[in-house]
Amino acid sequence: IRIYVPADSAAIALGADEVAEAILTQAQQRGIEIDLIRSGSRGMFWLEPLVEIRTDGGRTAYGPVQVEDVNALFDNDFLHGGAHALSLGLTEAIPYLQKQERVCFARMGVIDPLSLSDYEAHQGFAGLRRCLSMSPSEVVQEVLDSGLRGRGGAAFPTGIKWKTVATASAPQKYIVCNADEGDSGTYSDRMTMEGDPYMLIEGMTIAAIAAGATQGYIYIRSEYPRAIEVMLAAIANASAAGYLGDRIAGSSYAFHLQVRKAAGSYVCGEETAMLESIEGKRGVVRAKPPIPAIQGLFGAPTVINNVISFASVPRILERGAAYYKNLGLGRSTGTLPIQLTGNIRYGGLIEKAFGVTLRELLFDFGGGSASGRPIKAVQVGGPLGTYVPEQYWDLPFDYEAYAAVGATLGHGGIVVHDDTADLSKLARYAMEFCAIESCGKCTPCRIGSTRGVEVIERLVQADADSALKPAQEKLLRDLCHTMQYGSLCALGGMTPNPVISALNYYPQDFGLAAANPA
Ligand code: SF4
Repeated sequence: IRIYVPADSAAIALGADEVAEAILTQAQQRGIEIDLIRSGSRGMFWLEPLVEIRTDGGRTAYGPVQVEDVNALFDNDFLHGGAHALSLGLTEAIPYLQKQERVCFARMGVIDPLSLSDYEAHQGFAGLRRCLSMSPSEVVQEVLDSGLRGRGGAAFPTGIKWKTVATASAPQKYIVCNADEGDSGTYSDRMTMEGDPYMLIEGMTIAAIAAGATQGYIYIRSEYPRAIEVMLAAIANASAAGYLGDRIAGSSYAFHLQVRKAAGSYVCGEETAMLESIEGKRGVVRAKPPIPAIQGLFGAPTVINNVISFASVPRILERGAAYYKNLGLGRSTGTLPIQLTGNIRYGGLIEKAFGVTLRELLFDFGGGSASGRPIKAVQVGGPLGTYVPEQYWDLPFDYEAYAAVGATLGHGGIVVHDDTADLSKLARYAMEFCAIESCGKCTPCRIGSTRGVEVIERLVQADADSALKPAQEKLLRDLCHTMQYGSLCALGGMTPNPVISALNYYPQDFGLAAANPA
C-alpha cells in the first residue's frame, strides 16, 4: 500500500512530519506494510497535511490530517477507501485541482521529488531528449516560438535572452537561475524546487545546450533551507545518473550545476545584484548596459531566468511550441502558477492559462476572504505590485491588460485584504520596505523611500481641512514620480505602484475626500 504525505515546507509547518511519523507507527503496530512517500504539495494549503492513498481508481485524499486523527483513520480502514470525516474522495476530482491547467505543476504532489525513475515515468527528461535531437539554434527557436516570457516579474521574452547569449562569442557562458523568491505571498519557486527539482535541472540543462553554456548556478534564498537541501540532493542524483556532467545523457554536451545560497537581501533578486552576490561581492545593483546576456556573471554572457521560466521549458520542448502558445491570451502565452494568499479562505497554488480573472481566482478558487468580510484590496505582483480595486477584477490575467491600468502580474503573487485593511498603512509599509531593502546605490530610492515614510505619516496625521493635507499629497506624488523615473532598478522604480494605487483608489484611508492625481 502506497501512501503520500507532503514534505513541502508549508505542509511541514502544518504538521506533515508528525503525521507521517504517526502513520508509520500505526502501520507498524497493526502489522500493515506500507510504502510512505514524502511528496511535494498539491498546493491546497487549507487541506494540509493532505494524506493520499494510491488505489486502482486513482489517489484518494484525506485532509487536513492531524496526528490525533491517524488512529481513527486506521480504525476506519482508510487504506482501503474507508469512510472518514476527513475523506475528500479522489484527489484529482477536487474542484480546486480539477479546474486548473497544470503544465509546470502537473507532477507536483504526484511524484517522489528525488526519485529519478518516478520523474522519468512522468514524462521527465522527455524535453531534454527532444532537445538532444535538435541543433542549439532550433532549440532557441522553439522557445522563441512558444512565446514564453520571464515568470520572475519582468516578462521579457525568454527566447530572446537565450538567442542573445547563444550568438555572443565567448569562451565561457553561464546559466543562472534566480531562485531568490522574495516577493510577499509567493512560493511557486519554492514548491518547484522542493516538489519537482529535476524539472528545474532539465530546464536549465536545455538552456545550457541552447546557449552554449557549460556551467550553471541556482541562487536560492537562505530562507528556503529545504529547497536548498532538495536541490543539492537532486543535483547529486542527476550527476550520478549522467544527466549533468561532462556528457549529458551520453551526448557531447557538458553542463555542471551548483547551488549558491543567498544571504537574505531582497534586492539580490534583481538580476545584476544577484550576479554580484554570486561573485562573492556585496549585492549592489549594476548599471545597465551592458546587459547580463552580453556581460553577466564574471563578465561572461549569461542567461538569467527565474525558476518557473526554466521549469516551463521541458514541457515546451516535449510537446512543442505550438502546444504552449495555444494556451493563454495574446502575447501572454502559456500558463502562470498563481499564488493566492493573505485574507483568503482557500489559499494555494493555482496554475491557469493566462486569461483567468482576479474575480475567478478570489471567489471560484479562493472562496472569498478568510474572515468572511468583504474583500477591499488585492495586491497583485508582490510587495511592489499595485493594489487592484474591484473595478479591475474582471480584467483577464494578461501582461498587457494589467500594464494598461498601471498594474503588473509580477511573479503571480496575490495578497488579499478585507475591508478592515487601512491602505495608508500598507502604503507606508511599501515605502518602509523599500527603505530597509534599498541597496543604497541611487538617491531616489535610498533617500526617497525614507522621506516617503515621513510624508505619508504627515499626510495621514494632517487635519482634513488644513492646507497641509493637499500639500503633502502633492509632495508624495512628486516623490513617487521621481522614484519611478529616477531609480536605477525596479525596487525604487516600482515602490510607487502600491503607494499611488492606495492613494488613487482608497483616498479615504488617507483622510482625503477624493484622490487628486493632478
Ligand atoms: Fe539600489 Fe534602490 Fe537604486 Fe535599485 S533603486 S539600485 S535598490 S538604491
